[in-house]
Formats: sequence, structure tokens, C-alpha cells
Amino acid sequence: MSKKYIVLDRDGVINVDLFDYVLKNEDFQFENGSLEAILKLYENDYEIIIATNQKCINLNLITADGIKQINDFWIGKVKEKGGDVLHVGVCPHRDEEKCDCRKPKTGLLIAAEKKLNITLEGCYFIGDKLSDLECAIAHGCKPILVKTGYGTRTYESTFPEESLVFENLKSAVDWIVS
Ligand SMILES: [Mg+2]
Ligand SMILES: [Zn+2]
Repeated sequence: MSKKYIVLDRDGVINVDLFDYVLKNEDFQFENGSLEAILKLYENDYEIIIATNQKCINLNLITADGIKQINDFWIGKVKEKGGDVLHVGVCPHRDEEKCDCRKPKTGLLIAAEKKLNITLEGCYFIGDKLSDLECAIAHGCKPILVKTGYGTRTYESTFPEESLVFENLKSAVDWIVS
């Protein structure tokens, strides 16, 4: 059986969006049911790819290694429960740097594909911001909007009509694996 891949945004999807930067482990709080959702994906043979914009790195609020430590912290919680995350893609850039990886640009997905020798075309991509949905569509992924984090605001604004909408990661995953 060929592997299934799914792309997840982090802040506002997996963890509670503080509407500020997550700069230490204590700032990372799983959204309601999100840890269970990640485990459910894993148990259903989904390989999980994270694509996250973290301009706090190039704003010098935290180092790239500091961000890695926070990701190691929460992925450690996933591993404690028997799950795993295959790949974490982080864009450290500020908007003005005009990089190719800050979502809605698709560089994080392209880098993951090259590193893992896979394709993410046709995969679900779950996010809470318009930039996630636009990134998904630009890369040929299936966009899913969750109403956690910025999701309610995104939902109340204009967003791509082909997006599927769910209350949170848990309900999105329940639907995906059903
Ligand atoms: Mg987000
Ligand atoms: Zn970037």
C-alpha cells in the first residue's frame, strides 16, 4: 500500500494560537483533541508533514534551534503516545525577505518532497489561515480550514470555496479517516 501524506499547519491547528509567538515549551498547548487527532492519523497510516511560518526566528525573538526544541517537545508528547511526525518544515523568514517558503508560497512543501522523495499533490492540507489554504491550492493539495486559531476570522472573510471546513483538527481527522 502506498503511503498517505497529510500536511498540517502548526499554530492555531495543533496548538492554541496565542496570537503571539510560541517561544518556549510552556507556550505550547495542544488544541482540544489535537493530540488524539494526530495519533489517529498516524494509526490510520498517514505520514504527517508540518509546514509552519515562524518569522519570530528572523525577528531574532528565538533561534532556529529554539524553534526546533519546541517542536521536539510537542512531538515528544506524540511519540510518548505511540505516534510520530515525519517531517517539520519551518520558514524563518519575514514577509519583506520575499523568500520562496513563507506560506502561501509552496517552498516548504517542495523542500519536504525533495527531502523525502515523495509528492504531496492531492494530499489534504489543514490550516487556519488564508495563507494555508492558498498554499494548499497552489501546490495541488486539498485545502481544509479549521475554525481554531485564526480559523473563525478566516471563515468570516473570503476564502477559497473548494476548502472543506471543520470545527477543529479532531473533527477534520474524524472525517478524513471515516
Ligand atoms: Mg496557523
Ligand atoms: Zn521562508
